[in-house]
Amino acid sequence: MSQEHETLPGVERFADGVHGAVIRPDDDAYDDARAVWNGMIDKHPAAIVRCAGVRDVIETVAFARKADVPLAVRGGGHNVAGTAVCDDGVVCDLSEMTAVRVDPAERTAWVQAGATWADLDRETQAFGLATPGGVVSDTGVAGLTLGGGIGHLRCRYGLTCDNLRAADLVTADGEFVTASEDTHPDLFWALRGGGGNFGVVTAFEFDCHPAGPEVATALVFYSGSEAKSCLRAYREYVETAPDTVSTLTSTGVMYDEDLFDADVVGDLKFAVMGCYAGPPEEGEAVLAPLQQFADPLVDVSAVRPYTEFQQILDADYPDGMRYYWKSLYLDALSDPAIDRIEYWGEKAPSPLSTVDVWELGGAITDTGIENSAFAGRHAPFLLGVEANWEEPAMDDANVQWVRDCLDDMRQFSDGSVYLNFPGFLEDNDETMARTFGTAYDRLVAVKDAYDPTNLFALNQNVKPSGD
Ligand code: FAD
Repeated sequence: MSQEHETLPGVERFADGVHGAVIRPDDDAYDDARAVWNGMIDKHPAAIVRCAGVRDVIETVAFARKADVPLAVRGGGHNVAGTAVCDDGVVCDLSEMTAVRVDPAERTAWVQAGATWADLDRETQAFGLATPGGVVSDTGVAGLTLGGGIGHLRCRYGLTCDNLRAADLVTADGEFVTASEDTHPDLFWALRGGGGNFGVVTAFEFDCHPAGPEVATALVFYSGSEAKSCLRAYREYVETAPDTVSTLTSTGVMYDEDLFDADVVGDLKFAVMGCYAGPPEEGEAVLAPLQQFADPLVDVSAVRPYTEFQQILDADYPDGMRYYWKSLYLDALSDPAIDRIEYWGEKAPSPLSTVDVWELGGAITDTGIENSAFAGRHAPFLLGVEANWEEPAMDDANVQWVRDCLDDMRQFSDGSVYLNFPGFLEDNDETMARTFGTAYDRLVAVKDAYDPTNLFALNQNVKPSGD
């Protein structure tokens, strides 16, 4: 800890009044507490409040508002832009609020907003159920849900936010509300895809669906020399595949000495990943074509526990490594787009970086656009561009690669983005307006109603009309 820090007026009294720990710059725990998943982020908050319950959240919001300092909200701490921490302000950290309660008869799950997908999957799987989540189990339920939520069950059961039944939330003026179809429906609409703009969610209630305990899964790696033909075969597969299948692809070196032979470990590769939401024996047959695009380098497809598949990518995204990600919705997976995906996969400065294509459609499209704020239902595919690297000296090269790739790939897109991947947007207002289109005015109206002074500004920001 090398910086000078000003003490927030009244922080001692505030700390005495809350139940959770209030971690300040002089505390031994400070450096650990301010660290987030992305090692590129190095912020120094004035206080990190490890909330123990709703009352701590209410008091934290009131304290930050009165002190007139930035307020960051932390769920799982996995936003790539590090929006869960801030300089000189207060972090409302929910990471100790991780309780889950499943109602197996009603097929619902209630979860506190600091839980990760590993926390939620563990409990729902006790009853053979799952709420569609993300594909890495360390990510937070909160940020992922509020931005949409794209995972292995999406084409069958929709986005995570499509499965939200209700959310408890503390607004900017400290009011506690429950948003659902019946209460605060405008806020409920905005919370499903509009991000962390409207308050601090303290708990979510989700629908669950039968899943597992074992599911049919595919994870197949091909030589990068076949990337283009594999992507074309993938496009054909997706055209006729049932909604019970959700798939994604990655193009990059995917350096892994345990997985690949020494003669290919440093070469470009293409990977396809899929999960079947239904009986495993039926799923194996439906996923089989993904194993036959060419001769695989490695094929680890299997019928396996649902929770194992939910964690299969965890080790690829360790805490503290360096990350810079962007996204774009694609109009189509055209031949020219495929050519450029291979080109950018090959050009990545880091052997851990990938250019990904996520299939959308199915239940995502079937859910009406007006049903929630989420803005990506029109697109058949989502492009994710992930720079993942270790050496700080490579920061500029990796960031530039992502930006150049995005600039090039915009020719295949209307320019709208999936807000959960980039985090902060360099051109926030323009990208938000383009992404939400006609729904943006409605988001601003909800922001005006619940956060007119933009207390919740450390996010993909919807600015209130008075700002
Ligand atoms: P945090 O960094 O804690 O929070 C991010 C932002 O969310 C905060 O700044 C705040 O604005 C808001 N927020 C968080 N908690 C609350 C709350 N309780 N109340 C109000 N606002 C809150 N996304 C997908 O859709 N599918 C995936 O498969 C997927 N995989 C990923 C894998 C990895 C390794 C990573 C790093 C990210 C992945 N993402 C995925 C993106 C992910 O959805 C976002 O990074 C998301 O922001 C993470 O949520 P979090 O709670 O961990 O983030």
